[in-house]
Amino acid sequence: MRALPLALIAALLAAGALTACDDTTKTPGGAVNPPSPEPGPPKPDDAPVDGGAEQPSSEPVPPSPDPAVQPSEPPVPSPATFQHNPAGALPTGQGAGYLDRTVWSPTMCWPLAEAGFANSQVYGPGGGMGPAGKPSQCDTLNYSLPWRDNFCEARSRSNPLCAGAGTGHQGQDIRPASCKKNEHWAVAAEAGTVTDIGTYTVTLVAKAAPHYTYRYLHMQMATLAVKEGDKVMAGQKLGKVSNDFGGTPTTIHLHFEMRAGVAGATTDGKPIALHTFLPPYLSLAQAYQRKLDGKTCGN
Ligand SMILES: [Zn+2]
Repeated sequence: MRALPLALIAALLAAGALTACDDTTKTPGGAVNPPSPEPGPPKPDDAPVDGGAEQPSSEPVPPSPDPAVQPSEPPVPSPATFQHNPAGALPTGQGAGYLDRTVWSPTMCWPLAEAGFANSQVYGPGGGMGPAGKPSQCDTLNYSLPWRDNFCEARSRSNPLCAGAGTGHQGQDIRPASCKKNEHWAVAAEAGTVTDIGTYTVTLVAKAAPHYTYRYLHMQMATLAVKEGDKVMAGQKLGKVSNDFGGTPTTIHLHFEMRAGVAGATTDGKPIALHTFLPPYLSLAQAYQRKLDGKTCGN
């Protein structure tokens, strides 16, 4: 068959007669719906639960340094290959997953200096809604692959991106490399400024557009490596993963959040206001894969 002239190919592409490429993982610059979302088991009748309430909505979130600046087109990252469940795939009875597949922060650093295990500190062993017969938070299940998403698991926290009543979790729970508190460092996901230190929260606003706000919860607050106003480099140590929760301790884990620095929309069409909680799971998975591959991060 004769090769099609370039002009004809371009015309066919424009008319939608040809598909140029396909990818189920999109960056914020490529707003395309995934061809086959991987829904978690829908449980619309789940009562929101919160066996380990973590973040008061009253915690201050500072304004972004320059919300008018639009992000430059990010690179398209390669998919993570280490063992992890798909984004939004939640175990039965733990809430509905979220279908958006955007890698919101495609170049961020893995926010721990060492390995970590993304799962649920509430529904995992030792959690408030954990499995019967597994009372220890140090159970190997919590410190093993595969990872799993818990952004929209059934919790009582406000989260307009989650299905149903707009409640869920607001970030991702990550166990550190071992079940030992005050040992494993959490590090800056991006270069930026430490804008707030709360009772058990550290807030980092990224210097680069779109100025994501990252929040780190439950570090050992008495021994933080940073203070309010500090400018940090990507990958710089912030504090050690612990169980600080103001009063009664939570489990040993890092609760990691990402909030929008500019308004926009998700790939499935939901509006995003400034400071909306964004699902961090895929950004974390890709950052972790880059770390496993020995790639440096930051700037
Ligand atoms: Zn959490």
